[in-house]
Amino acid sequence: MKKKITIAIDGHSACGKSTLAKGLAKALSYRYVDSGAMYRGATLYALENDCFEKELDEAKFIHILDDFQLDFKIISGINSLFLNGENVENEIRQPHIAERVSKVARIKKVRRKMVAQQKKWGKNGGIVMDGRDIGSVVFPDAELKLFVTASVDVRTQRRLNELKNNGVTQNFDEVKNNLSERDYLDSTRKESPLIQVEDAIVLDNSELSIEEQLDWALAKVNEILNTPPR
Ligand code: C5P
Repeated sequence: MKKKITIAIDGHSACGKSTLAKGLAKALSYRYVDSGAMYRGATLYALENDCFEKELDEAKFIHILDDFQLDFKIISGINSLFLNGENVENEIRQPHIAERVSKVARIKKVRRKMVAQQKKWGKNGGIVMDGRDIGSVVFPDAELKLFVTASVDVRTQRRLNELKNNGVTQNFDEVKNNLSERDYLDSTRKESPLIQVEDAIVLDNSELSIEEQLDWALAKVNEILNTPPR
């Protein structure tokens, strides 16, 4: 049987990490985990439990941190996040979650909970996970680490199209401001900031189609799979 590797994909908001990760997981028959969805799910739980006034009440949220579980299931072909057994995939993509998620994701205890679950899912390899700290914290020994990037305007347009397809109306500047703010908060926070680790391969996909970036990444995977162990 072919060896099953671990693939860690990190990068800025809306850079196409999830599209690439999903494509790789499908092509390789690996498990796919969208770690960003988990932080979005945690944010929804915080909102549902009145932990946001204007700002997040961290102490209140930490108090209820053990009371929710997250899981993924494929529903009608869509990888969907379940929060305490309820499908919340659509809700976590809404702007009110995107506006708050980076404030939840910077809390150490929240990250500890998410990372423990992510490590459990990945312990036998055969997994593609995308996020901000996957190559640095979750799977520091991953055989393949990618750092995906694209210009902020390209990323904004892609996210705008995605939102439009899901019936959400926002304008270019609103989306661009949200991406830029999240990139700033995610890169400058104390706990597990978004960084490009030394052993990550950088992929700037500004000029690449979905198929081109998938082919590029699959070639990297095949190089690893075809390299005899030392
Ligand atoms: O990937 P996505 O844009 O859905 O992630 C939403 C937010 O979740 C990010 O802006 C970031 O604040 C947080 N996140 C994180 N660590 C990860 C994945 C996402 O902090 N591994």
